[in-house]
Amino acid sequence: MKNFIRAKNLKFKYDEKLVLNDINLEIGEGEFVAVIGTNGSGKSTLAKHFNALLIPTEGKIFVDELDTSDEKNLWDIRSKVGMVFQNPDNQIIAAIVEDDIAFGPENLGIPADEIKRRVDLSLNAVGMTDFKNFAPHKLSGGQKQRIAIAGALAMNTKCIVFDEPTAMLDPQGRTEVLETIKKINSEGITIIYITHFMEEAIIADRIILMNDGKILKIGTPREIFSDVEGIKKIGLDVPIAAEISYRLKKISFGKIQFTKNILTAEDFLKDFLKIYRSSKK
Ligand code: ADP
Repeated sequence: MKNFIRAKNLKFKYDEKLVLNDINLEIGEGEFVAVIGTNGSGKSTLAKHFNALLIPTEGKIFVDELDTSDEKNLWDIRSKVGMVFQNPDNQIIAAIVEDDIAFGPENLGIPADEIKRRVDLSLNAVGMTDFKNFAPHKLSGGQKQRIAIAGALAMNTKCIVFDEPTAMLDPQGRTEVLETIKKINSEGITIIYITHFMEEAIIADRIILMNDGKILKIGTPREIFSDVEGIKKIGLDVPIAAEISYRLKKISFGKIQFTKNILTAEDFLKDFLKIYRSSKK
């Protein structure tokens, strides 16, 4: 897998306060990476380095091999990496959906017929074609976030960074947005997804676990959530199925053993039925 983002000994200070401390990471092209950590651990600050909204105080970060601290790379980087934030209402500018999606490419001076083509493709990618002529304020939160995603896609971005995009949505909106993100990832867009919902983090290929401005661990969801006690110690939850299997192991003094680290309800049921059947023999 080709590297898309690479950070090397990145440090960042707000005034004199060290907020990111020696960040080293590599994110591959087309990867889906979740970022988790308690409030104030530095997730948003890190995310803003991925499209050069912030520049490292020390160290480097490269996006598609472009150094973010080199000012002449700024436009290139911003068009390669889009961002979608938490509040759906703060991200929509125009009074009609299609104008809103066209806004970014228009600012780049892209010809009208190319803009039209991009708007149609982007609307289709997020399943919002039927809402092309709608007023954004008539849309649900989930639909607004899908329009924000379409806006990023219309810039021909290769990567979208999401900073808690479902935090203000109802369960229906949350599902809609997650399904949309999974779909665009399957079409090759690199996804970086900050969340405080552990059940959302487990759909990622890898998770970056942050604590106090540092990366504590990077690994697959199964690797990250295998350390239930460690995760809880830093003040985070684990997915519910991981929690239940962990507790069962504990209250049975290790008699109930699962074959692998449990992450989902499906994992749990499969293993639990096996254990139940063998106990009946
Ligand atoms: P998270 O996204 O994990 O909640 P943030 O990246 O928002 O964490 O914040 C990391 C630290 O940086 C916190 O201590 C926060 O108070 C501080 N911080 C965030 N934004 C600013 C800012 N604009 N000015 C000064 N300090 C900030």
